[in-house]
Amino acid sequence: MRLQDLSAALLELDASHRRRQRVSLESPQGVEIIIDGNEYLSFASNDYLGLADHPSLVRAVQQGVERWGVGSGAAHLLTGHSQAHQQAEEALARFVGREAALLFGSGYAANLAVITSLVGRGDAVFADRLNHASLNDGCLLSRADFQRFRHNDLDHLEQLLAGSSARTRLIAVDAVYSMDGDEAPLPELLALAERYDAWLYIDDAHGFGVLGQGRGSQAERDLSSERLIYMATLGKAAGLAGAFVAGSSLLVDWLVNRGRTYIFSTAQPPALAAAVSTSLRLIAEADDRRERLAQLVACCRRRLAGTAYSTGTSRTPIQPFIIGGDAHAMKLAQGLQQQGYWVPAIRPPTVPDNGARLRISLSALHDVQQLDTLLDRMLLLAES
Ligand SMILES: *Cc1c(COP(=O)(O)O)cnc(C)c1O
Repeated sequence: MRLQDLSAALLELDASHRRRQRVSLESPQGVEIIIDGNEYLSFASNDYLGLADHPSLVRAVQQGVERWGVGSGAAHLLTGHSQAHQQAEEALARFVGREAALLFGSGYAANLAVITSLVGRGDAVFADRLNHASLNDGCLLSRADFQRFRHNDLDHLEQLLAGSSARTRLIAVDAVYSMDGDEAPLPELLALAERYDAWLYIDDAHGFGVLGQGRGSQAERDLSSERLIYMATLGKAAGLAGAFVAGSSLLVDWLVNRGRTYIFSTAQPPALAAAVSTSLRLIAEADDRRERLAQLVACCRRRLAGTAYSTGTSRTPIQPFIIGGDAHAMKLAQGLQQQGYWVPAIRPPTVPDNGARLRISLSALHDVQQLDTLLDRMLLLAES
């Protein structure tokens, strides 16, 4: 894209209703947010447990800053790795029931590090078609043979595995798909990984904190294998920022040596790492919040079953209200905004063509009445 082409290209995005624009929150993240001086009921964050502005977590970070200062000042392999990071890694490994864990500045960085450090030229990576963009970018960057299988289609995956003569094979999936809220068949995927001598890498950005009493998708299915690599972000249900990878100590040692985004990036602020133990305690104690989420999910599914906007099979806080056309989805989102609801319209290329949708993200801080009213209005607007 040349400099002189930018403005025409942006206008084209405008014309096809695909121009992205940001809004600036004038409040902390939560279910009630303020934008341009107006208050909205938000169904738009990944703060599923409502921890992003939790007083105990705020205090933990404040105390962390007092103890550790603000910046880590260096990469982990220099002097950026503190006791706060070390203890957070140990706590995270224990929490998800794995031998070791490694902290990253973001989930995006973690995905790049894991994939590019395990597969390269001559290897193969097998990825679900609906995987998150950061997994896809890791696959591309690795230079391994990048093979995508139809969404949750185990037969297709097995065909690809059977036809591959690559030395190292890695299967990469989202545990919970970020735009549909449905889940990967983890036990069956692990069985295939065993049969074809592959790694199974699962990105649990949306399951951690929510599924398996908060310990995530892998813990919920009670999966354990040295070839299973677990990744979750700390910026969603955990209410913080950053991410971690958990697995065997050998794997973590390898990532410390070969994970480029780990090696060549400044360590996350130690105060955030210091707050991880508080976040884990809040997650462990959040059964009532997860119960509320379950009620909200049930309400969504009951209300939308039998309508043209069924949310599919999602039992997670991601409930898609699939509209189809971009313009229609945008119009609906704007109509809701005028009524004080913030529900994002998700358009291609984030979702497939003709798959534009309103993505309802539920939070444990919503109550069922609020959701019920939102759904009334959504259905009314969509039919009008
Ligand atoms: C959000 C997300 C990521 C990226 O995590 P960040 O910590 O926000 O960089 C990776 N994978 C999935 C499935 C996600 O939803």
